[in-house]
Amino acid sequence: MKNITILGVTGSIGQQTVDVCLHHQDEFNVVAMSAGKNIVLLETTIQKINPQVVCVIDEKDCNYLQEKYPHIRFVFGSAGLDEIATIDQVDIVLNAIVGFAGLLPTIHAIESKKDIALANKETLVTAGHLIIPMAKEYGVSILPVDSEHSAIFQSLQGEPKAALDKILLTASGGPFRGKSAEFLETVTLEAALNHPNWSMGPKITIDSSTMVNKGLEVMEAKWLFGVDYSQIEVVIQPQSIIHSMVQYVDGAIIAQLGTPDMCLPIQYALCYPQRRERIGKPLDFKTISSITFEQPDMETFRGLKLAYETGKIGGSLPTVFNAANERSVALFLQKKISYLTMADIIEEACQEHQVIKNPSLDEILAVEQEVYQKIDQKF
Ligand code: NAD
Ligand code: MG
Repeated sequence: MKNITILGVTGSIGQQTVDVCLHHQDEFNVVAMSAGKNIVLLETTIQKINPQVVCVIDEKDCNYLQEKYPHIRFVFGSAGLDEIATIDQVDIVLNAIVGFAGLLPTIHAIESKKDIALANKETLVTAGHLIIPMAKEYGVSILPVDSEHSAIFQSLQGEPKAALDKILLTASGGPFRGKSAEFLETVTLEAALNHPNWSMGPKITIDSSTMVNKGLEVMEAKWLFGVDYSQIEVVIQPQSIIHSMVQYVDGAIIAQLGTPDMCLPIQYALCYPQRRERIGKPLDFKTISSITFEQPDMETFRGLKLAYETGKIGGSLPTVFNAANERSVALFLQKKISYLTMADIIEEACQEHQVIKNPSLDEILAVEQEVYQKIDQKF
């Protein structure tokens, strides 16, 4: 039996993690969970899972829930997140918080020697240079939940690391694949939220439409698999059947295929190194007419090109990229800026920044705030 904390339980990944845990109740025991402001969904989840400790953002919600469920311990805020990420009996923390808020709980969980099932890619984008050595020092595993990284991780099993030539990171291309910059000028929020293959939270859905998500994933892959940027190639595979591939020095390419369903990568991260029976439907080749490939259009989807440039420079620049992206997506979701302004904001923030090499955690946190403040002054 593995004892689990789920961070971000009310989100898209969080809820699918609940499904996986309920499907394999003989194997997983959810001890603790956190949520943001969706208290209605949190209550439904509490009733399904009956955890011991629950964290929310606001003290008011915490007090309300404590009165209603006296047998459960409720905590709140960043201290509460730390508490549930470091509970003694917990073996693995699945981090499905969206955005930069996922960074500190990951660090505290590692310091408490918990394995991490990591969906929160922003953690590695901003602090991969701290997280990976820290995981080594504390002897914990960082197990990818992101579907592409899970596919790469699965394709690397049993092979010598030195034989890896490159990673072929697949992308659906999102709802605007093949469109021109002129077309993107007119994109509405509703159109951007309509992903062709995946059902996800709003931030990552917008990130997928701009290809910034793939940019963040390039940086995530660099840290997870210890490769150079020249060894990560993005390949558009519009049907989202091949979840990613690795190419070895002898030319062999190994891929992981499946339906576009996050339950498999979530389950693989939680069960690793075992495999358990699936939840959803398997891939049925009789229903697939074709699997096609394209080159990414990095001129129209500037975010991906900028992500490669940002990653190669490194230091504090990926934090700037990530923070500027988080703010610009939030502004777009509030209909305060147009679609292409998001890339402008990221580009300008990166250009203005004086890069700090090898930033400490405090420096990363400070850079993040600085970027938010600058953008907030303008919009
Ligand atoms: P979501 O918006 O659906 O859910 C986010 C969760 O985080 C919610 O439970 C929310 O309450 C919580 N949260 C938000 N802000 C918080 C804060 N400041 N403090 C504490 N909790 C907070 O997001 P999602 O789509 O489930 O994505 C979660 C993470 O997983 C993201 O980093 C995303 O990039 C990554 N990811 C998601 C998918 C997917 O299919 N949804 C796939 C790959 C990777
Ligand atoms: Mg992904």
